[in-house]
Amino acid sequence: MSVKVVVNGYGTIGKRVADAVALQPDMELAGVAKTRPNFEARMALEKGYPLYVLAGRESDFRDAEMEISGTTDDMLEEADVVVDCTPGKIGAQNKPVYDAANIKAIWQGGEAHELAGISFNAHSNYDEALGCDYARVVSCNTTGLSRIISTLDVFGIEKVRATLCRRATDPGDVKKGPINAIVPELKMPSHHGPDVQTVLPHIKIDTVAIKVPTTLMHLHIVNMDLRESCTADDVIDVLDENSRVRLIGEGMSSTAEIMELARDMNRPRSDMWENCVWEESINVSDGELYLFQAIHQESDVIPENVDCIRAMMELESDARRSIKKTNKAMGL
Ligand code: NAD
Repeated sequence: MSVKVVVNGYGTIGKRVADAVALQPDMELAGVAKTRPNFEARMALEKGYPLYVLAGRESDFRDAEMEISGTTDDMLEEADVVVDCTPGKIGAQNKPVYDAANIKAIWQGGEAHELAGISFNAHSNYDEALGCDYARVVSCNTTGLSRIISTLDVFGIEKVRATLCRRATDPGDVKKGPINAIVPELKMPSHHGPDVQTVLPHIKIDTVAIKVPTTLMHLHIVNMDLRESCTADDVIDVLDENSRVRLIGEGMSSTAEIMELARDMNRPRSDMWENCVWEESINVSDGELYLFQAIHQESDVIPENVDCIRAMMELESDARRSIKKTNKAMGL
């Protein structure tokens, strides 16, 4: 069975989700929706993706000599599931439209947990999304935290404390950056800790966050109280088993060098889908684990969206098998 997937909102996340879906043998990309006839719309057409547009904007695309397949409403009729990748808080407005079209919907981390009722991370709670009609793939930071927390919970996590150094904006964003400042988020805990609990409700976690003048990646400084005694090597062995965690070292001392590695690997758009954990930073002292990880905000959620589709459409009942299929198709 091949399920028909459409992507509403073709920006940073949407275009990556579209490419990843197009690579899956059990999914068909039935269309993408764009608001403006810009270079990204042109690229979608060049890739052979059916292009749909907001109702009322058809003539803008015709004037730009871009062939469209219809409006967003037409696109929804083609699909089994829509992946909403519109900017945060816009996605919520689309829920009645998806309900009217009678299709399943996935939203991104910019929307509230309550919109979907299920917040998703493949390694943490794949089963919860099996057959469901709505889900939300959590944000890049929450994905990065959930992946390592669910993996390291084999040691029994008493409490997580994480400091998030967040990139100011994405590299392609000319509206918000660059900034020349370090901006503390004064609300404690930052929203990331409670967000992790939407995926892993049993985990005690506090997070604090600062915004820093970079666009490349986020960096997390993570500390966990563990119930079971273990060594740094035990932690390394467990993390090494997770296909979406990359242990890094060999002279990689910064997020810039991780992005260089992604380019050297010929990754599409130099995406780094995995959490990058500095192996040398993994230390255990008096039952407390410390580590540093870097998170590529533009891409770590992409394989998660694919697994979420597979769970919701019940294409695969087993999380590990879905993760393996997604990884294989994407080249991860
Ligand atoms: P973006 O601004 O790069 O892309 C959003 C796209 O949606 C744009 O192309 C925009 O033109 C389009 N759009 C706007 N209104 C629309 C509408 N009504 N209908 C259809 N399309 C519309 O945003 P993004 O960074 O891709 O973020 C999308 C979602 O993913 C948000 O919820 C965000 O919080 C989440 N997210 C973003 C990142 C990141 O670092 N960029 C990481 C993880 C999750």
